[in-house]
Amino acid sequence: MRLMLCTAGALVCLAPLSHAQNAGSPGTVSPYHDLVVRAHALIDGTGANPRPNPEVLIRGDRIAEVYARGSHPPPAGAEVIDLGAATILPGLIDCHTHIFLQGEEPAAGGYDVQLLKFPASYRAARAVVAARRALEQGFTTIRDVETEGAGYGDVGIKQAINEGYIPGPRMFVATRSISTTGGYPLEGYAPEIEVPKGAQLIDGPVEARKAAREQLDHGADWIKVYMTHRSWVDEQGALVSQPTLTVEELRAIVDEAHGWRRKVACHAYNGIGLQRALDGGCDSIEHGLELSDAQVAQMVRQGTWYVPTLAVYYYDPDPADTPTGKRDRKRVAVHGVSFQKALRAGVKIAFGTDVGGFVWSDPIAQEFAREVEFGMTPMQAIESATSRAAELLGESSRLGVVAPGAYADLIAVAEDPLKDVNALRNVGFVMKGGVVFKSTLTSAAK
Ligand SMILES: [Zn+2]
Repeated sequence: MRLMLCTAGALVCLAPLSHAQNAGSPGTVSPYHDLVVRAHALIDGTGANPRPNPEVLIRGDRIAEVYARGSHPPPAGAEVIDLGAATILPGLIDCHTHIFLQGEEPAAGGYDVQLLKFPASYRAARAVVAARRALEQGFTTIRDVETEGAGYGDVGIKQAINEGYIPGPRMFVATRSISTTGGYPLEGYAPEIEVPKGAQLIDGPVEARKAAREQLDHGADWIKVYMTHRSWVDEQGALVSQPTLTVEELRAIVDEAHGWRRKVACHAYNGIGLQRALDGGCDSIEHGLELSDAQVAQMVRQGTWYVPTLAVYYYDPDPADTPTGKRDRKRVAVHGVSFQKALRAGVKIAFGTDVGGFVWSDPIAQEFAREVEFGMTPMQAIESATSRAAELLGESSRLGVVAPGAYADLIAVAEDPLKDVNALRNVGFVMKGGVVFKSTLTSAAK
């Protein structure tokens, strides 16, 4: 059973703000000074072997130099943060989050109360806490793939983070998302009652393009589309998912988004809907529970990304003898196989968790162990949440690497994540854009 942390409880558990992070006023570090972070080892995000005794020189919000300790002295006047025996990595990137979801805990009213009963201000306040939780767990960048009925709330949270009013990761936001009539909750109410929907519903290519234009106009960095909705197990024991948009509808969205130099993320479980996602030119398949060999080949050919979100499907399965219980078990059974196939075939895989679908107090980094269970090396798993994720976001040289010119987004862990990838559950140091947010490893020295 998952625990639902109340906001007050969550705040008590949060690490205190470290020096240089100012949650109450705009701006970051002032004036800029040279900063040197040293540690026992560096995993730079590119997949290269760990480098011993690294020093990372930071100027402003960027990394200026990365070199071995002793190769030259730190610049005069530089502040040195010595992380001792820790391993430095790039700030982690979660490519599938929902800061406006809080776990959909049935005891707390499930999904529907969030849209029916919670004031927008309450949802925004909890999204602020979620954003902070991502950062304290070492996720310095997230792609937040829709607000679940909270409109353009993600655009405002992103702005408040960027202006320094609240702590949080760099955000790539998808705003409202798009599905079709019959393709997204709220549902199950009397047809006479009009209820809000967790996505913008369209029918036909004209409405699809208009929705994409509206969302892009109001600040969407990505467009999120639901290409499948309900899922169940049929008489033959096969997983079936209900398709939503047609290829023509999706093509209109993709064409519009690409014209704006934006990309389209498609929630798709399997079958017809997943095939339409691929044929319609979707940039990333979200979840992709069941990929056929032909679909894997098409993803490789088209360069389609795969954001599998493995761990979330292991949560709270319904009883085994119920239709939903059978569905829950089938999802898990086919998902790992799909991941293995995709990995072997060389599909581009980026780390995503669907956090928000589970509570923000749970470790986001639990996904790493699932990736390793299904065949990634710990280094590949780390790359999926660093340089590979940055590539998905079109931020290759700026995010996901510890290298000159990149943003100074660094984390550190006490244990070696190549020995046990679960070390990434305990991030003891977080820096974003040259500003230390969390520091439980360090003994800072001038
Ligand atoms: Zn999701």
